[in-house]
Amino acid sequence: MIKILFKDTLSCPVFSCDVCGDMIGDLSEGAAVFADLPRRSENMKIEVLHVHKGKCHELAEQKIKQKCEWQPLGAHLYFLCANTEVDGKQLEKLKRIHGTRTA
Ligand SMILES: [Zn+2]
Repeated sequence: MIKILFKDTLSCPVFSCDVCGDMIGDLSEGAAVFADLPRRSENMKIEVLHVHKGKCHELAEQKIKQKCEWQPLGAHLYFLCANTEVDGKQLEKLKRIHGTRTA
């Protein structure tokens, strides 16, 4: 899930592992895990777990209790940006508006 980390005076959105609760500080450490449904109704939405690769990923699949599929967290973030109309140009615009801070 995404949580807010208070750091100095900033309110920083971070990925928090849905299994262990620790921050996923590097995209290469994370995965997005969700049910691999045999039937997918149009416009159906399902929950997704953001987890560390490895043990947390294995536990996430046990928690979902059915066949799962997953995406590397970097790919998941890329698709999320694409699905919210955020591209490189939009990111540059947001950077100009909000600055270079990490919050
Ligand atoms: Zn974890």
